[in-house]
Amino acid sequence: MEYDLVVKNGDVLCFEPDSLGRRNIGISQGKIKVITTKALRGKASVDAGGKIVLPGFIDFHSHVDGKEFSARCLARQGATTTIGGERSFDGLAIRSIQEKGFLINHGFYVSHSFTLRKAVGISDPYQKATDREIQNMVVLAEKFLESGSFGIHFGLELVPGTSEKEIFALAEVAREYGSIILIHMRKDGFQAIQTLEEIFKVAKATGVAVHILHLMYMVGFKGIMEKALSKIDDAIEEGCNITADTGLYNAFPTCIGSSILDGEWYKKYGETVSIKNLMISSGIYAGEICSQGCYRYLRREFPNTLVTVSVLDEAEIPKALKKDYVFVSTNAADGPHYERIGHPETAGTFPRLIRHYVMEKKVLGLSEAVKKISLLPAKRFGIQNKGNLKEGCDADLVIIDPEKIRDRADFINRGDPNMPPEGISYVLVNGKVILKENQFQGINNAGKMINY
Ligand SMILES: [Zn+2]
Repeated sequence: MEYDLVVKNGDVLCFEPDSLGRRNIGISQGKIKVITTKALRGKASVDAGGKIVLPGFIDFHSHVDGKEFSARCLARQGATTTIGGERSFDGLAIRSIQEKGFLINHGFYVSHSFTLRKAVGISDPYQKATDREIQNMVVLAEKFLESGSFGIHFGLELVPGTSEKEIFALAEVAREYGSIILIHMRKDGFQAIQTLEEIFKVAKATGVAVHILHLMYMVGFKGIMEKALSKIDDAIEEGCNITADTGLYNAFPTCIGSSILDGEWYKKYGETVSIKNLMISSGIYAGEICSQGCYRYLRREFPNTLVTVSVLDEAEIPKALKKDYVFVSTNAADGPHYERIGHPETAGTFPRLIRHYVMEKKVLGLSEAVKKISLLPAKRFGIQNKGNLKEGCDADLVIIDPEKIRDRADFINRGDPNMPPEGISYVLVNGKVILKENQFQGINNAGKMINY
């Protein structure tokens, strides 16, 4: 038997049951055909001696939305699948991926805030939808779910006009389709806790599976994270079906024109926070701390300017990571499409998880951490054949060098937000080597559109 590709001599991490040991992997037609201690023959081979072979990382929440630049950043950090669509669910991008493939595998969820509302003619984020508009959104949402969307996304903080009625009507649709809803909470900062109740109410009343997005960015404050987690624990105890994800940074990115920064925004983060906690992260002022004048000017003239809001407490991250219902996602940006601009999450998240939270701080074991970016997201979205290394699974693999792996992306005032990590030796998508020692191999179409 000769396989298309053999990955030799690596320490292979498998789940269910968990094991890490020296194995060879035989791959043909994009699938894992065998994992064995026996020698295998292949038309081509990858020597993974001294390295760890992991299931390709699944990014539960990104803004890649079919954009090449961000997909490359993700691939370099070991992601072989990304799911997104919070802001744009572009039919052209979807069709292009379906027809021509993509660098990595890609799935979408439909955005209530930016797709469904727009489709029924609502442009004002503070406007409530009428009964008729809600009905129209329901019909559209059903179409999206039928055509493979992984769920329905709500950006409640970004679209404050969203009524409970809108959420309930669409949550019912998601439940009927066995799908999930993803929620960016209505408030972040010290007020976030109260807005959890709204999420629990939907989960309880409809029975829908709910996923809370970027937990650290919403509640990453001293005393608040613990409270939020204990409330979620209680809700799960009471039968709610809830998961969440978190980023690994102490500052979150947003656009300066976003409703997150409306009015006296800094007050929701406590007394010590001021305009000085805003750093401009794109455009000609990139890297500068914001002034009042600059804030007003950019909001008026360039509301899409990226800013980094440094208000979070890094000590809260391990608390979230300790919960088995919290996954790790990159939240990777959809651009800007040039270097030295942006937020380090787009290029650094997964290696950071392994270097800082597994190897250095020992918050999680390797398999616990890797599950949060492979098996658990796959199960939550019902993605078959991904997120694990076993016979029959898609051959999405990342091979890491445990000595070298580390993130190098940093905030724009200290470094390059898009700096690739070290120690990602190989990335395989559907059996093809797309990246070797940080060099792309010229294969840009191994990834597929994945559907629910
Ligand atoms: Zn996001």
